[in-house]
Amino acid sequence: MPRILVTGGAGYIGSHTAHLLRRRGYETTIVDDLSRGHAHNVEGFPFHRLNLRDTAALTAILREGSFDAVIHFAAFIAVGESAQAPELYFLNNTGGSFSLLEAMATAGINRLVFSSTAAVYGTPESTPIPEDARIAPVSPYGESKVMVERALEWMDRYRGLRSVVLRYFNACGADPESPLGEEHDPETHLIPLLLRAVLTSEPVTIFGEDYPTDDGTCIRDYIHVRDLAEAHILAVDHLLRGGASKVYNAGVGQGYSVKEVIRAVEGVTGRSVPFRVGPRREGDPPALVASSTRLQTELGWKPKYTSLAAIVETAWRFASRQAR
Ligand code: UDP
Repeated sequence: MPRILVTGGAGYIGSHTAHLLRRRGYETTIVDDLSRGHAHNVEGFPFHRLNLRDTAALTAILREGSFDAVIHFAAFIAVGESAQAPELYFLNNTGGSFSLLEAMATAGINRLVFSSTAAVYGTPESTPIPEDARIAPVSPYGESKVMVERALEWMDRYRGLRSVVLRYFNACGADPESPLGEEHDPETHLIPLLLRAVLTSEPVTIFGEDYPTDDGTCIRDYIHVRDLAEAHILAVDHLLRGGASKVYNAGVGQGYSVKEVIRAVEGVTGRSVPFRVGPRREGDPPALVASSTRLQTELGWKPKYTSLAAIVETAWRFASRQAR
């Protein structure tokens, strides 16, 4: 079976993908510095605690493991934090990725799946957003990913590095077949915050209800983390077959407003969500919805979680287990 190195495998999407790879029989090794991820997510895996910027150590791991491909998740993900400390995002996200590219070149590994983001589009001119929409990030976080995407184009041309870039929309939910779930600290994502509000009765703040959308709240494309993990497996299989470099949106193609998500949470939990309305959050575009036909037609990806209720159900099971 193929040997895969997963960077950031202790984090949310990385751990879901690593567990799914292992269940499918791929020999899966994880590298993570545990600065944001959780040790319990890597239990039972071959694991190296390492920051990617340690190029020498990373090169040694890549050489010894004779890996067929790398799936690279390790990165910071908070848009707000990236505006507070841009240098952190360029150093960790861009610098860490460049170090990985050097280590891969030295070790002769030339297949990479890269975690990118819808934030590369900034505030899109229209939705749904196709992959060839204008790249215009409005945060250091988005820019830190764009810089890597651009480097990958050059690495393809001059180094023969084949990559699949997945631009994530709003990853959410928890895998019902594993103990994994979303546990960011601090948590900034909508669904876990709504569930926490239900569990604690502490109101959550909605960031603005004066957007040019039907109910005034922002619209996002919520993709279940298990479906996202499947997309990574399809991407790595494509590269292992000798496939060319590609860029895909990873979203379902269906948008829901913040208030629709609140109603879904109320439907699933049977309780009302205490909330108040606050000002807009800086950098939040009114609507981000993927055109995901490319991923579906070219790689045969098909999301299983197409209803918000089904997504929230899995997140609720995880959150209520955590609260016990
Ligand atoms: N959101 C909100 N209150 C919160 C967190 C998020 O109203 O406490 C909104 C946010 O403005 C956005 C949507 O929920 O429209 C999804 O935000 P999240 O941070 O989960 O993901 P993002 O879209 O930033 O990737």
